[in-house]
Amino acid sequence: MQGKTPRIAIIGAGMSGMLMAIKLKKAGIDNFTIFEKASKVGGTWRENRYPGVACDVASFSYCYEFEPNPDWTHRFSPGPEIQQYFERVAVKYDLLRFIRFNTVVTDAVFTDGQWHITTDGGDSETYDLVVAATGPLRERKYPDIAGLADFAGHCFHTADWDDELDLAGKRIGIIGTGSSAVQAVAPLAEKAAHLTVFQRTAQWVMPTPNPVYSAFNRFLKRRIPLIGWITRKFYDWIGEQFGRAALHDGWRRKLIGWACRQNLASVKDPVLREKLTPHDEPMCRRMIVSETFYPAMQRPNVALVTEGIERIEADGIRSRDGQLHKLDVLVLATGFYPNAWGIKNVTGVDGQRLDQVWQAGTRTYRSITLPGFPNYFMLIGPNSPITNLSLIDIADIGVDYIMQCIGKIQAGEFNTLMPRADVTAAFNEELRSAFGGTVWITGCNSWYLDADGVPATWPWVPARYRDDLKTVQLEDYQLA
Ligand code: NAP
Repeated sequence: MQGKTPRIAIIGAGMSGMLMAIKLKKAGIDNFTIFEKASKVGGTWRENRYPGVACDVASFSYCYEFEPNPDWTHRFSPGPEIQQYFERVAVKYDLLRFIRFNTVVTDAVFTDGQWHITTDGGDSETYDLVVAATGPLRERKYPDIAGLADFAGHCFHTADWDDELDLAGKRIGIIGTGSSAVQAVAPLAEKAAHLTVFQRTAQWVMPTPNPVYSAFNRFLKRRIPLIGWITRKFYDWIGEQFGRAALHDGWRRKLIGWACRQNLASVKDPVLREKLTPHDEPMCRRMIVSETFYPAMQRPNVALVTEGIERIEADGIRSRDGQLHKLDVLVLATGFYPNAWGIKNVTGVDGQRLDQVWQAGTRTYRSITLPGFPNYFMLIGPNSPITNLSLIDIADIGVDYIMQCIGKIQAGEFNTLMPRADVTAAFNEELRSAFGGTVWITGCNSWYLDADGVPATWPWVPARYRDDLKTVQLEDYQLA
């Protein structure tokens, strides 16, 4: 068979979509388009601009391996610095001319051996291969609380921060105590006249100092790149230990649990400490890391409300004990729906729709492809290792896998591939039975769990993910 270079549609110009584009360019392929709903690259880092936003994976791990950054200012980079990094990389690798900004892909339909992509602008184009690089956490989860629309002050989700709003001297309320809220609490408390934190479920917080890298330290890393490389490998190893801790009740999990309990013990007031004490296992939800949360919660201008929310009123929030907590600003740190498919209407062979196929449970072949949807690839797809690891490394593994498939199409081995249904079913059976010893099913409620209580994570060591996606096993696929 005569091979050809496929036309590729990448959906999303965030960290993973950009990575896909860079590797395509490095392979000499430039017949691809990146569709981006916003006017800038950066994905999650463009959208999440709340005070205190930072990456809880170390800076030296959270960047492309081929594009190290010796100039990170902190061990855990602030969000704006990461956003600048991606904007810089987009320019350096000449990606902007491939990106269709302000363009939402509304439909992706596979017919006649090709993907037909329709955008909100009404354009319709055909591609041979689709890479969904849409990220797992985009769709804001607004709390279903009576009276939310009645609030007369400023109200927004953490991912829709109102940059123009001056917070100084305001009475601020924040609903939620997940990763976003925990990062935002300290900077909000510093600015606010008063901050009220509405907690429904207490969460464990791992203490993680975030030192500034001095000018000399950065100078050294610029001069001796090996230092940055070793730092990256060290933090990759730490991430791997986190991944393993969630899987088995061994020394890693015990150590993390101990560190969380020690951290909680730093809360001096026993009543406050009791309210902040979780009733589930550390790591059952995504591990929160912070060194600023507990000190901030002990500030005189910060109050913790655990009585539950009765309703939201024009002036503030009425808790179940009848008290009205008056607020000028209400921040919804209520998280996201882990929406795996990204594109709204994806239709595969025989007219089957992805959202309907997944109604019975989100099943993929090794997180990256799925039966019935030829040449459709997902980066950081369902059941990827999405815990406290660098998702850049996870995306990188997926991109290399897709590049192998593209290489085989170019070599004329096939035009389309889709995983066999029986192989996918067997993989999912093995995957579901492997969650047994993991911490995620020890009784907490988190966005990791789907409606059936199955975690959206990877139940094996991260190294297995690398191994499973190292080589494309064509015998697992139907080729055409
Ligand atoms: P989240 O972890 O899902 O937390 C949402 C919070 O809102 C929870 O405390 C939840 O309480 C509360 N909540 C939701 N609905 C509520 C309601 N109706 N009434 C009262 N409380 C309600 O969301 P997130 O903090 O935005 O974090 C989501 C994920 O984003 C993280 O797990 C992480 O993967 C990622 N993230 C990463 C970083 C990073 O540094 N890399 C930073 C921020 C976020 P319950 O616990 O009771 O449900």
